[in-house]
Amino acid sequence: MANKLRLEGKVAVITGAASGIGEATARLFVEHGASVVIADIQDELGHQVVASIGTDKASYRQCDVTDEKQVEEAVAYAVEKYGTLDIMFSNAGTLGSLSSVLDMDMTLFDQTMTINARGSALAVKHAARVMVTKKIQGSIICTASVEAILAGAAPLAYVASKHAILGVVKAAARELGQYGIRVNCVSPYGIATPMVCKTFGGDAAPIEASISGNANLKGITLSTKHIAEAALFLASDESAYVSAHNLAVDGGLSSIMKLD
Ligand code: NAD
Repeated sequence: MANKLRLEGKVAVITGAASGIGEATARLFVEHGASVVIADIQDELGHQVVASIGTDKASYRQCDVTDEKQVEEAVAYAVEKYGTLDIMFSNAGTLGSLSSVLDMDMTLFDQTMTINARGSALAVKHAARVMVTKKIQGSIICTASVEAILAGAAPLAYVASKHAILGVVKAAARELGQYGIRVNCVSPYGIATPMVCKTFGGDAAPIEASISGNANLKGITLSTKHIAEAALFLASDESAYVSAHNLAVDGGLSSIMKLD
């Protein structure tokens, strides 16, 4: 248990929390006193995460972020079960398939945009509706990526969808500021999560080695916990005056150009 509970009494919905960054964040938020709804499409895994957290402060709700009704219902479920909604962490995402721009499958392009960009817009919309109605000065956080700042190794659709998330965050922060609602995003560099391993078709170890090899910051491997810590900062009162910010957790990569 952490010494200081930074989210005591707060209620959060985290999309894409059955795995990877979302799962690590759900664990950390509960450790810091929050009640968390794990919203995902991987039901079995989601229930396993809840069981391993082992407290009624975590619960699972099936939620496909491509379906507006399910996003609305996940938010309503959090309010019904835990009484309010202080934090929305829109984190569900897909990397899609690697392909050349020249051979891009536009159906796959639409799928990536629908999950990543439209899914984030829906999470923002339905969290904000509850927060405005209930006069909650909440925190909405989206997972973008270094690929929201520059184009790395990801498919075009992913890069486009993550750039779009920055737009969602800025536009929402602008409008929701009048209600005291903050909207930010966190932009990770690479982690060998299932999403990444699926796209790059391999075991985690060589993918992690390749990610570390390309990293700017050496002597440390980026983990899901590091991203969870950044989300915790943006969710907590420690970032009380931070809004429309993109917190890059990338060891400086997106701000530097290596010429040596
Ligand atoms: P992950 O595969 O561990 O988790 C992604 C989760 O999203 C899964 O649990 C999956 O079931 C869920 N998901 C996918 N489609 C969904 C849908 N339609 N509705 C609801 N849930 C859905 O991967 P991760 O790396 O933890 O990814 C989390 C977020 O982090 C994504 O938005 C991803 O783009 C972003 N990100 C990851 C990296 C990285 O290197 N791992 C880097 C930058 C950004």
